[in-house]
Amino acid sequence: MNVIDTKYIEVEDTDGPTTSLVKIKYTEITGEKDGPKLFVIAGIHGDELTGVEVIRQLIKYFSKKDITGKLTLVPVANPIAFAARQRCTIQDNKDLNRYFPGNPKGTITEKIAYEITEKIIKPNDYGIDLHTGPKGRMLLPHTRIVSDESNKIKALSKLFGTLISMTREPLENTLAISAKAVKTHTIAVELGEGERLDNYFIKAGFFGVLNIAKYLGILDGRAYVLKDQYILNERNNIVSKCTGLFYPRIAIGDVVHKGQQIAEIYDPQKDMIENITAEKSGIVLALQTDAVAVMGTTIISTLTLANCGLNSVSLIQKKCVIYHTKNPRDLLLNIWE
Ligand SMILES: [Zn+2]
Repeated sequence: MNVIDTKYIEVEDTDGPTTSLVKIKYTEITGEKDGPKLFVIAGIHGDELTGVEVIRQLIKYFSKKDITGKLTLVPVANPIAFAARQRCTIQDNKDLNRYFPGNPKGTITEKIAYEITEKIIKPNDYGIDLHTGPKGRMLLPHTRIVSDESNKIKALSKLFGTLISMTREPLENTLAISAKAVKTHTIAVELGEGERLDNYFIKAGFFGVLNIAKYLGILDGRAYVLKDQYILNERNNIVSKCTGLFYPRIAIGDVVHKGQQIAEIYDPQKDMIENITAEKSGIVLALQTDAVAVMGTTIISTLTLANCGLNSVSLIQKKCVIYHTKNPRDLLLNIWE
C-alpha cells in the first residue's frame, strides 16, 4: 500500500506590517517499492487554475493506485497570489516564476522559491510545472522547452502528449530552467486560460501526468508515445487595428492558411466591420476570449508552420489537429502509435 502524507512548507512573511506564516500544502505519495521520484506543481501563478484541479484529481486517483517510487503533488505553489486571484505575490508584486532558485533572505516571493527548490525540486528526479495563459487568453495545450533541450526533457515533453511544443528563450529564473541546475528534469506546460476551469484542458493535463508516470514506471500500464511532436518557435501575433466586438472565426489548434479570414471586429463608433486575415499559414496557439478587442492588443497568435511535418500533413488532411482540439473524447485515440 502507498503511504500518503499531507505536508506543509512554512514560509515567514515579514514583508507586511506584521509577521505571518504562509503555508504551502503538498501531498507525498510513497509506494512500497523504491523507484523514480516525480513532482507535479501548479499555482506558481495565482490566477492559473487548470493545474490546481488536475492535481486535485491526481491526489484522488493515486490514493487508490499502488505506485512504485514517489509522487509529490503541490496544488498551489503561491497561496498568496491564489487568494488574491493574481499572477504575482501581492506583498512584493513579484512573479514567482522569475525568482528560482530563490533566496532565504529575500522578499516573500524569493523565500517561497527557495523553499520550493529545497523541499520539492531537489529531492525529485523529474518534474512537471502546470501553467495556463492569462485571463482572457486561451492557449492550445503545449509544452515549453528551450531550443537546445536535453533528450530527457524532450522525451517528457513528447510523453505529455501535446502535439505542439514551443521553444523559448531560456529564462534562467523560471522553475523549469532552474531545476536543470540540480538535475531534476522538468517540463513546463500550458493548458488553457487563467481564472477558468475547462474540462478539456483538465483532461489533457491529467492524461499527460499519468502517461509520464506510466513511462517512468511509477504507475503500471502502457505509456503512449506521440508519433510526432511539432516543435515550433515562430510566433505571429495578430493585433487589432480598432476597438470593437470580437468575433473569432477559428478555434485554438486550427490550421489556418495565409489570407484566410480568421476573425471580424465590429467597431460600434464607426459602424464598420474589420476583417482579420491570417498573415501567415500556421496553427492557432492563442485566442482572446474576451468579447471586446482593444486597438493595439493581440487577439490571436499563431505558430508558423514552415518546414515542419505538420505543414504537409495537417494543411492537407488536418488530421492530428482536428482530433486533438475539436474532439476531446478522442484525446487518447487516433494520434497515438
Ligand atoms: Zn503561469
